[in-house]
Amino acid sequence: MEFRTRAIHVGNRRDAETGAVVRPIHLAATYVQPGAGDWGRFDYARSGNPTRKDLETTLASLDSGTDALAFSSGMAAIHCVTMLLSSGQSVLAGTDIYGGTYRLLHKIVDRAGIGVTLAPAHDLDALEAAITPQTRLLWIESPGNPLLSITDIAACAEIAHRHGLLLGVDATFATPVLTRPLELGADIVMHSATKYLGGHSDVLGGALVVADRALYDRLYFIQNATGAVMGPLESFLCSRGIKTLELRVREQSRSARQLAQFLLADDRVARVMYPGLPDHPGHEIAARQMDGGFGAMLSFEIAGDFAAAKKVVESTRLFQLAVSLGAVESLIEQPASMSHASYDPQDRRAHGVADGLIRLSVGLEAVEDLRADLLQAMDSAF
Ligand code: PLP
Repeated sequence: MEFRTRAIHVGNRRDAETGAVVRPIHLAATYVQPGAGDWGRFDYARSGNPTRKDLETTLASLDSGTDALAFSSGMAAIHCVTMLLSSGQSVLAGTDIYGGTYRLLHKIVDRAGIGVTLAPAHDLDALEAAITPQTRLLWIESPGNPLLSITDIAACAEIAHRHGLLLGVDATFATPVLTRPLELGADIVMHSATKYLGGHSDVLGGALVVADRALYDRLYFIQNATGAVMGPLESFLCSRGIKTLELRVREQSRSARQLAQFLLADDRVARVMYPGLPDHPGHEIAARQMDGGFGAMLSFEIAGDFAAAKKVVESTRLFQLAVSLGAVESLIEQPASMSHASYDPQDRRAHGVADGLIRLSVGLEAVEDLRADLLQAMDSAF
């Protein structure tokens, strides 16, 4: 079955009891067992829930995996992966990563005696040179947040496996519509389901997908032991969002590409970061590993300072000033003061997150309206 058909039908069997075409939301916290010590399919909601299981079945199919796990947030999903490591081991992550992942690695994970190193993942030589005998996990994002850098996932998988490491890919920006990292050799794919999977800014969730049962068992054990599972209502909302995932991502990506070209032509814009632009340094790799589109996220740097960028993001009317991304409504933000504020300021600038950087999450509104909105916001700031 094609992706779009699986998004609607896999994990969404008709309800056997009533014939309802939409599955019920199972709220039960506990389940009656056939006998003492004789366990049924579900026993307790942290360990498993039918509504969550339906979503996990869909996610595994869409990402070409065997198994998936749904979490209470994207951060909970990433944290679960880092808990595969023990004290004395270390994680090597790309530099262009979500600010919350940076904070998790540098302020929580390292407290458990796990080493944390960052290296530019789009520079494969630099990345490989940063691997030490303690490294166990390579963690990348492609496209990266917020600079839209592109990392060659297949090449990273080759490097990771040659050094005996696991490769985890945060594919939140790409979604399984555009990139399926497991097909490119990654071991774990992660999504903030809060974003495109949910798609409507009304659910917080995360997901891991793997193609290896033993790895799934280890991750499931950690998730069940630590408890950050996705709730039934969130699971339902995510499953519902996924039914239109492909249509939304393809249309929003088309609009993002048009807006990137529009911004490129504005001389108040110093730089546009969008992998669909031919002069983007990762364009060729993106064209290879992204399937029929370059995503609906784009960043641009204005030819102005922190205050000018602040003025632009505070002047849009359709683009709403908010962190998060991936929903039907367009959002705008200033990474230096918002999504990436938890970076050490020197690290932030060193990693290219300039004060004049602006990040857009392009939604489903008419592209003409979005263009006009950006123009009036730029006019009011310059
Ligand atoms: N990864 C990326 C790329 C993100 O943009 C985010 C959130 O913005 C996360 C992970 C964290 O996900 P959540 O907010 O669902 O915990």
